[in-house]
Amino acid sequence: STFDQMGIKDDLLRGIYGYGFEKPSAIQQRAVLPIINGRDVIAQAQSGTGKTSMISLTVCQIVDTAVREVQALILSPTRELASQTEKVMLAIGDYLNIQVHACIGGKSIGEDIRRLENGVHVVSGTPGRVCDMIKRRTLRTRAIKLLVLDEADEMLSRGFKDQIYDVYRYLPPELQVVLISATLPHEILEMTSKFMTEPVRILV
Ligand code: AMP
Repeated sequence: STFDQMGIKDDLLRGIYGYGFEKPSAIQQRAVLPIINGRDVIAQAQSGTGKTSMISLTVCQIVDTAVREVQALILSPTRELASQTEKVMLAIGDYLNIQVHACIGGKSIGEDIRRLENGVHVVSGTPGRVCDMIKRRTLRTRAIKLLVLDEADEMLSRGFKDQIYDVYRYLPPELQVVLISATLPHEILEMTSKFMTEPVRILV
């Protein structure tokens, strides 16, 4: 199938083609539709498969830019990956006027607060920083409808399990969850059964 057949909004399609993509990669073929149809999804996939682009384009599709509140939260194991996801989303979402902010450690929290006050639709961050900002109530969670856990196994290896569970507790009950992981050890399956409802499972 093609991007045209996925029901993607026109301004987003322009962004996808403008970024240089012609047809969806394997993970995009299988994960995009269930995600934009609101399903919880577990995707077992490595980096380099088009997963970052898949996250970026589904988040762009789901977010309503007329609503000036954080609607999607993406958690990544490293600052580099969180920043990369922000960059790809801004590029693909070029015609949407979507406001994305990377909440990562090592930068001033004052800057994060200012950005969030000015209206951000999507936060891409590391669990520690995001958890901290939610607890300080500088990151408001009431309009969040989508949580993406990218490289979930890597987040657990880096000791972020408690922070991920803490973040989850602050999110609205009607939450869509997408989890991407190269491996699915017991702790990941525990997380999926706690956070997700009848997830679609995809192996690429
Ligand atoms: P990602 O896993 O999203 O970082 O993608 C890995 C590489 O493949 C990056 O260089 C992307 O720009 C590229 N890529 C992702 N999806 C597509 C696609 N549908 N068509 C062509 N290149 C893609």
